[in-house]
Amino acid sequence: MTEIKPILVTGGAGFIGSNFVLDWIETESSPVINLDKLTYAGNPLTLASLENNPRYTFVHGDICDGELVADLLERHRPQAIVHFAAESHVDRSILGPEAFLKTNIDGTFQLLRGALAFYRTLEGEEKENFRFHHVSTDEVFGTLKTEDPAFHEETPYAPNSPYAASKAASDHLVRAWHHTYGLPTLMTNCSNNYGPYHFPEKLIPLMITHALEGKPLPVYGDGLQVRDWLYVKDHCSAIRTVLANGTVGETYNIGGCNQRTNLEVVTFLCELLDELVPKSAFRPHRQLIRFVTDRPGHDRRYAIDARKVERELGWKPAESFETGLRKTVEWYLANKTWTENVTSGVYKQWIEKNYGFRKAEL
Ligand code: NAD
Repeated sequence: MTEIKPILVTGGAGFIGSNFVLDWIETESSPVINLDKLTYAGNPLTLASLENNPRYTFVHGDICDGELVADLLERHRPQAIVHFAAESHVDRSILGPEAFLKTNIDGTFQLLRGALAFYRTLEGEEKENFRFHHVSTDEVFGTLKTEDPAFHEETPYAPNSPYAASKAASDHLVRAWHHTYGLPTLMTNCSNNYGPYHFPEKLIPLMITHALEGKPLPVYGDGLQVRDWLYVKDHCSAIRTVLANGTVGETYNIGGCNQRTNLEVVTFLCELLDELVPKSAFRPHRQLIRFVTDRPGHDRRYAIDARKVERELGWKPAESFETGLRKTVEWYLANKTWTENVTSGVYKQWIEKNYGFRKAEL
């Protein structure tokens, strides 16, 4: 019997990574090795249901640790690496960019170096099938004006935040490792995700958790920044599709064709909460909306042209913004303990410190 090779996932305890790990275990037959440093953004509780699953192994470690990466690859001999691990929160990258450069650039370099050394030891089918899948963002393309066409795979890179710049650098490294050394890479640049297990620091979960407690809903600037939203489970299915059938060396834009202003998103969330929590003392929830000082360098609009992945690989999102957002609100209502665990401790101190300065404006 041929042995089923695992995949090595990095950052699998974060928002998208944990959704991906759960989705993979449910839909595929191969095991998952999850390498995660468990920064404030990594939450092992999300994957508690896999604790005794023989197809799941958690490794607590740093992608910047080249020796650990080499050892893991040698020991587990994965068929693919799916690289999610990153410092990912734009606000934090403005306050402290060092960690972003370290993990997103040096960490990706260490993984690429390890992956290439491992790839070179492979032979035959194992070598042919090996893939390094880099998960990236549309923020590397910069910002769009209202009349501009959406980002496509040939759009020049123009990152504006330290986060986006560090992700852009990692994308370039991945590209170079394919072109220079022949590492079989795949890359996906995805728009804003939302869904279960999203940290309450990001727009959608922040608004849900604040609204449920009757706290102000802080909207940056005029709230007219446009984002293109994708339900996280659709992102997971896109990654599985690209990993299985994508052309080596190619990049694919992933998006949901759901452009909305931040204010539209918050208003729609308030309407959903009015409906789903009819006894709330804070109805109508839109009364909680407060406009606060804009983020420095805030990109005005992102929009993704995802026609290539649909045309070439047949992938399309399953959820509309309306159905995905409803599922998300329902999930947060049914999983309040998860949010309470996340909002305690280190995370709580961070949010108090960083939203504290805006309290006067709220
Ligand atoms: P996240 O911040 O929720 O999770 C990141 C995970 O990486 C955490 O579990 C953290 O502990 C881990 N990690 C951080 N530094 C590490 C290190 N040095 N070594 C090992 N593990 C480390 O991020 P996310 O929102 O799930 O995003 C995952 C990936 O998808 C990122 O690469 C991000 O750039 C990309 N992406 C995110 C979005 C989005 O909307 N969230 C959209 C497009 C692309």
